[in-house]
Amino acid sequence: MFKSLLIANRGEIAVRIIRTARRMGLKTIAVYSDADANAYHVAEADEAYRIGPAPAAESYLRVEAILDACARSGAEAVHPGYGFLSENASFAEACAKAGLVFVGPPADAIRAMGLKDAAKVLMEKAGVPVVPGYHGDNQDADFLSVQAEKIGYPVLIKAVAGGGGKGMRRVDEPADFAKELKSAQREAGSAFGDERVLVEKYVARPRHIEIQVFADSHGRAVSLHERDCSLQRRHQKVIEEAPAPGMPPEMRKTMGEAAVAAAKAIGYSGAGTVEFIADASEGLKADSFWFMEMNTRLQVEHPVTEAITGLDLVEWQLRVASGEHLPMTQSEVPLNGHAVEVRLYAEDPAKNFFPSTGRMLRLRAPSNMPHVRTDMGVREGDEVSMFYDPMIGKIIAHGETRLIALRTLRGFLSRMEVAGPKTNLAFLAAVMGHDAFMAGDIDTGFIDRHLDALVPGRCVGARVLALGVAGHLLQRKTDAEVAQQRRDEPHSPWAANDSWVLGGHRSEVLKFTVADEEVTLTVTPDGDGWRIAGACADGEEIVVSAVMDDDHALTATVDGVRLTASCVQKGTGFILLHEGAATEFEIVDPMDVDVASDADTGALKAPMPGKIIQVLAESGARVKKGAGLVVMEAMKMEQTLVAGVDSVVADVRVAVGDQVEAGAVLVSFEEKAE
Ligand code: ADP
Ligand code: ADP
Ligand code: MG
Repeated sequence: MFKSLLIANRGEIAVRIIRTARRMGLKTIAVYSDADANAYHVAEADEAYRIGPAPAAESYLRVEAILDACARSGAEAVHPGYGFLSENASFAEACAKAGLVFVGPPADAIRAMGLKDAAKVLMEKAGVPVVPGYHGDNQDADFLSVQAEKIGYPVLIKAVAGGGGKGMRRVDEPADFAKELKSAQREAGSAFGDERVLVEKYVARPRHIEIQVFADSHGRAVSLHERDCSLQRRHQKVIEEAPAPGMPPEMRKTMGEAAVAAAKAIGYSGAGTVEFIADASEGLKADSFWFMEMNTRLQVEHPVTEAITGLDLVEWQLRVASGEHLPMTQSEVPLNGHAVEVRLYAEDPAKNFFPSTGRMLRLRAPSNMPHVRTDMGVREGDEVSMFYDPMIGKIIAHGETRLIALRTLRGFLSRMEVAGPKTNLAFLAAVMGHDAFMAGDIDTGFIDRHLDALVPGRCVGARVLALGVAGHLLQRKTDAEVAQQRRDEPHSPWAANDSWVLGGHRSEVLKFTVADEEVTLTVTPDGDGWRIAGACADGEEIVVSAVMDDDHALTATVDGVRLTASCVQKGTGFILLHEGAATEFEIVDPMDVDVASDADTGALKAPMPGKIIQVLAESGARVKKGAGLVVMEAMKMEQTLVAGVDSVVADVRVAVGDQVEAGAVLVSFEEKAE
């Protein structure tokens, strides 16, 4: 076995490979781009080498830069992870030429599976069922359209060089074929530098079921059973599980044998995945699955296989790469319980899953859940940059049965605290608890079909509002106390500043933007808590009391129910974390609070605590709506408070320099304004 390993990758997969390599006593060597100088995978490795600027094309995808890092570090072996150079046959060759062990299959095997059309031809020859369709050389549009008619609609156009769901178009009617063909070709050309496509039957009620295979360099190959990756968006996996729900044992056996035959046909060694599409319209049947492609690398979702087999696939990869025999025969491969994995992405489900970037302000997982594994690529405080894919990490649960695994994972997700970029955490938890998903009623259309139920609504619940208000008020109190303390120091720069006046018992109007909705609430102190009225549950008042610790963990009682939550400061607002949902509270400048209603009650009130800078109003003066009455300073900002309606000033109750509480009457008006 080699003694050192360079990981030509980043993020969670680099961290995960380092973990096993370290356990096996290898020296671990990371590479990083400028954007990743302080990344998690760099911190985990024994040594790390800079390979270039942030864009992947100038760093992680540069073969010479990786080889140079190998030479500088004296690495003996290279693990490519997934993505980047993992399926690049020239890279595998270049490693061999440089005397490095490439942890992956032979370059020829990568090449054989590199293009989907050639791979299908090979598989047909090896007796593996392939999706019916045209995968020849002729790329003439009219010819392909005739082929599509022959195959029968719906059909799927696929880039032969495709990957990551790109360059793929489902076509339902002949009339759309030409247009979709053009657009698939254009996308394929720009993504892969190869416009060629194939056309195949779009399988009805499709389920993506893949087989993990492993081969050594001595001619032995085994199947490590299947994974079901049917939960997808835009042909990309989001949730994966093993085994496949409803998989008949004879179908598992048939698929496993087909996958092993595929691997043997190309002289494979190491870890590979043979992806099949199954027609589940009449349940899973041993004669209705077809080869789609083979991925000649470790796959994102390999942990579910590790969970049900109890094996470490990276360890197997390293052993096979160093020439060892597979440690098991087919009949010895275990299959225990059920495992499910979710991919946690920095993206906004409410905005069509648009990627989201920024600092991970909070990233914490519950402890004491031994059947859950987290494979994270970033830590709390790390930056999710725009340069790479937005996966934060993966969470995997293992249980005796599928339902146990799903419930365990759902519980775990709802106790995670994730804040910073927007994430799909709540969406993932919603999938775990969806009735149809729990029933195993899945296919690749599942997410699109149930989107409305899975994407959390914009409407924020009364509990969350109450928790947010409590968090805000407690934080404000803490800030004021800190300011007060500083002011008490004789030479503090804060000494001249004003502090909040606390402990008032008047109602106060709070205005937030919560999850992009404007919310105005009236908060009245009540005992050691508050009563909240406003945009909450149908005009009912909510009673909340709470304490917040130094770590911003909130313990609250909302209408008699004890709840916990966390407040994470973000910019001028905060993110409230509760039951796996992250709700952003923007604090609307309190000076903007509409004071028009004050005229009706005969007074202009202070919208928040502050200091009077200037008094413009005079007793007995007739003022027009919008006229400035008082200038107040609060939160280091000056704001002019204006008359809400035409009135006559009765009394000015404050003078320059006065400290006022929120809700204090500043100016009163004549009862009857003209
Ligand atoms: P898996 O089948 O293991 O889920 P994916 O297709 O999701 O693999 O891709 C694995 C990784 O490779 C992801 O990080 C993805 O962004 C990346 N990837 C996939 N296809 C390509 C490609 N053609 N070029 C570059 N990266 C790719
Ligand atoms: P990629 O290289 O992008 O992963 P695949 O050929 O593996 O491309 O297909 C990606 C996804 O597209 C599959 O997981 C499946 O959901 C869908 N798909 C592919 N081929 C078919 C098909 N013939 N019928 C229905 N769905 C398909
Ligand atoms: Mg695929």
